Amino acid sequence: MDNLANTRTRQHGLTAREAGLIACTTCGRLDRAGLVCARCGATLSSRYPDSIQRTLAWLAAGIVCFIPANLYPMLITRTLGREEKNTIIGGVIELVNYGSYFVAIVVGVASIVIPVAKFVVIGLLVASIRRAWPLDPHARLHLYEITEFIGRWSMIDVFVVAILVALVQLDFVASVNPGLAAVSFALSVIFTMLAAQSLDPRLIWDSIEEGPSDE
Ligand SMILES: [Zn+2]
Repeated sequence: MDNLANTRTRQHGLTAREAGLIACTTCGRLDRAGLVCARCGATLSSRYPDSIQRTLAWLAAGIVCFIPANLYPMLITRTLGREEKNTIIGGVIELVNYGSYFVAIVVGVASIVIPVAKFVVIGLLVASIRRAWPLDPHARLHLYEITEFIGRWSMIDVFVVAILVALVQLDFVASVNPGLAAVSFALSVIFTMLAAQSLDPRLIWDSIEEGPSDE
């Protein structure tokens, strides 16, 4: 803790919050802490309101939707007279069987590894804030930034899975339709993105100064 405190003092003096100032998230005006912004009238808040609770709620929704995304078929392909339903993992296994190892890896990473990694990172960040783990705040901010950055491009996951699986089979396939899992997967991605956006990264530093929270 001493190390962290020292690093902090060395890098900056007073934070806006410590000086009793709040930056308006709508127009950027920095003003004495009040209820509304003096310039644009937006509600002022020093930190995202209920950041941890909102993050956990979106994260839970994201994880819940990820379950049917893996249990139900992602793609329903119809070859002449034959209907085939593929789950995400089933699709990856099939790609491997076709010898398309590279595509199998891309689909596996985009649809399983990245979503699970995002759940884990957001969960760990929340836990580290609530329990005030003395971890390097800059490393945690970096993790948060990576998660948020990937979040913005996450919808590509859905297309990657759909298009790549379709491409490989296109030669002899009459029709390709998204299954129930495609919708669940898209929802899971959206909810996880909202979870990352709800997390106020400044809480990482607050927790170091204020200790564990009982929220
Ligand atoms: Zn304003």
